[in-house]
Amino acid sequence: MARYTGPVCRLCRREGEKLFLKGDRCYTDKCPFERRRYPPGVHGRSRRTKMSIYGIQLREKQKVKRIYGLLEAQFKRYFEKARKMGGNTGENLLSLLERRLDNVIYQLGFAKSRNQARQLTTHGHVMVNGRKVDIPSYLVKVGDFISIKPGSRKIPFVKEALESRDLGAIPSWLVLDKDAFEGRVVRLPERSDITHPINESLIVELYSK
Ligand code: SF4
Repeated sequence: MARYTGPVCRLCRREGEKLFLKGDRCYTDKCPFERRRYPPGVHGRSRRTKMSIYGIQLREKQKVKRIYGLLEAQFKRYFEKARKMGGNTGENLLSLLERRLDNVIYQLGFAKSRNQARQLTTHGHVMVNGRKVDIPSYLVKVGDFISIKPGSRKIPFVKEALESRDLGAIPSWLVLDKDAFEGRVVRLPERSDITHPINESLIVELYSK
């Protein structure tokens, strides 16, 4: 599946906020956003134009797309699916995105970024209910067990990520058994489980035009 392969820190600068795409580095003073809080490009520093409502909606959609590492066509498919589910489309959209296997791997602490989690998945190191699943977009369900293959538990970045994972930071719809390198989905994610500041109604308005 196609994905963005350019410099990711540029994306944070473009969105004007930290999107936490690079793992540990995001929490240190090496984060470029801390030093250059203006958009990338030659006119980035001098750009002062007031954003239109369309621009605000577009930026919010771009931000969420970038947080989850998706391209436009993939993101639009999630939106269509969310709309068909009935109820609150924005909340459905965020719930679907959270249920992606690469996001779950990241949230459980097997990887330090969603990008790393995606790589771990596509390289065949992840199991769902005891069977290898190498599709990052796989949507987890209540009762699913997500684990790292026994032969892959020695991968240094997996061990390091898991050791440094703060158990209190794991969303309550997931439970982690650190020793078994295994997590479980105890319920579906709800809006309140998503802590990154996102205004999903702006995305709904954008796609409803
Ligand atoms: Fe964004 Fe992390 Fe890069 Fe900082 S280090 S700009 S938060 S991806």
